[in-house]
Amino acid sequence: MLIQDLPDDCPKCGWQFNRIRPPRRMQRKAVLLIWVGLLSVIPWAGAILLMYHTSETVVIPRGPVSGIIALLIVSAPAIVLSFIAVNMRKAIDLKCKKCGWTKSFLIDKPTPRTN
Ligand SMILES: [Zn+2]
Repeated sequence: MLIQDLPDDCPKCGWQFNRIRPPRRMQRKAVLLIWVGLLSVIPWAGAILLMYHTSETVVIPRGPVSGIIALLIVSAPAIVLSFIAVNMRKAIDLKCKKCGWTKSFLIDKPTPRTN
């Protein structure tokens, strides 16, 4: 659905919606993805920290560079998932102020004109 295809008035009572559309929000799925990404970082970061502090023999090289590399590896899934989430369709919630009818619409990105 495109933003211009949203209904102009309430399908239940006919009350006309505000012409200024409510702001787009992320889908719940997208928010969930970001959370999963963020939470997935914690065990990895914990494991690496533990390895840094407990290993007697130096298994992994220590230092700022390897720290940054470790950070990148650890946060890679979060970055990928966030990227997917940001590029997912946005949702708009329409709510009738008169009768309380409410519905969420997923908004497609307008397809770029090819001609
Ligand atoms: Zn209504």
